Amino acid sequence: MAYSIPLFNLNFDELEQQAALETIKSGWISTGPKTAEFETKFASMLNVNHAVALSNCTVALHLAMKLVGIEPGDEVICPSLTFVATCNSIRYVDAIPLFADIESVERPVICPQDIESKITKKTKAIVVMHYAGFPCDMDAIMDIAHKHNLKVIEDACHAPLSEYKGKKLGTIGDVGCFSFFSNKNISTGEGGMLVTNSQEYYNRAKLLRSHGMTSMSYERAKGHATAYDVVDFGYNYRMDDIRASIGLVQLDKIQADLDQRAIVRKEYITQLSSKPDIIIPFKNHSDFTSNYIFPIVLKKTEAEKRDVIRDMLATYGVQTSMHYPAVHRFSVYQKYYLELPKTDQMVNSMITLPMFAALSKENIFNITSLLS
Ligand SMILES: *Cc1c(COP(=O)(O)O)cnc(C)c1O
Repeated sequence: MAYSIPLFNLNFDELEQQAALETIKSGWISTGPKTAEFETKFASMLNVNHAVALSNCTVALHLAMKLVGIEPGDEVICPSLTFVATCNSIRYVDAIPLFADIESVERPVICPQDIESKITKKTKAIVVMHYAGFPCDMDAIMDIAHKHNLKVIEDACHAPLSEYKGKKLGTIGDVGCFSFFSNKNISTGEGGMLVTNSQEYYNRAKLLRSHGMTSMSYERAKGHATAYDVVDFGYNYRMDDIRASIGLVQLDKIQADLDQRAIVRKEYITQLSSKPDIIIPFKNHSDFTSNYIFPIVLKKTEAEKRDVIRDMLATYGVQTSMHYPAVHRFSVYQKYYLELPKTDQMVNSMITLPMFAALSKENIFNITSLLS
């Protein structure tokens, strides 16, 4: 069945087609000038010193763990209310994930008090995820990190251009990670970006992205280098110029897209305000945010009843989702299970409603009139 109101729609037109075609015609399609341009533009939009374009965000998170020096057996505190990749990156370096609960269903982001209660002698870092584009309590988290000498990695996949006290999310901790998967605010098919203000992390990220080699194909093709050494055990985590050229077009569009999403969110809030059994997380949040998704929480509702409501919406052509099934309850994470009552409550009673710039007032009315 095709949905009449999808969860997301891709903000692509002839401009992305043209950009990809021009790159193909240029004869250089792998990592090269378009990738460099994409990185420079992204870094300047975020007001951060360095950006490294990668094949996706999962590898950005893996590199982040390597950069901040996470070793086998180290502990890393992370949320469970996130996409599984956030936590998998901890396991890629054989470290131990310690799940922390969310603050509340009104603020479903990692709880600073719970982070602090889980710190041990082995704890080395905290990974935060800015849910739906709304910031975690970064002042409190950075204070805890400084007090206990921990590194902070921001999974900012939901939050391009979102702000916290005048700073862009992803640029407050030691390393920030972004995704350009098809359904993200910025889409290149697959793609990711690592940002940092540290020159040292930047240099190592560039090496690790490409097998630890001291020069890349583009530099050798242009005669800027003829040989290379391999100075680190790296990977092939590169972005290519076809995707980067699409990403450049997407960066031109992102501000207008996010401005429109803010209007959509406001309309949802107006239409839902007369419904006492619906909680809108971050309802009165006023800082600029990406509105990657629009989650609602149904009061006094358990998973079964929520699923009945999702099925009902589907029969009316409204696609919904739930962000996310809790990571601490996945089979592969059984060994790391901890009780997280607020995360469980969120996961069992939330629905993600359609959110994209082209969603009309009528579309929103069609959706909200189905909810009580
Ligand atoms: C999409 C997403 C990822 C993974 O990004 P990929 O680019 O698909 O690897 C990680 N964390 C969060 C929160 C995400 O939304």
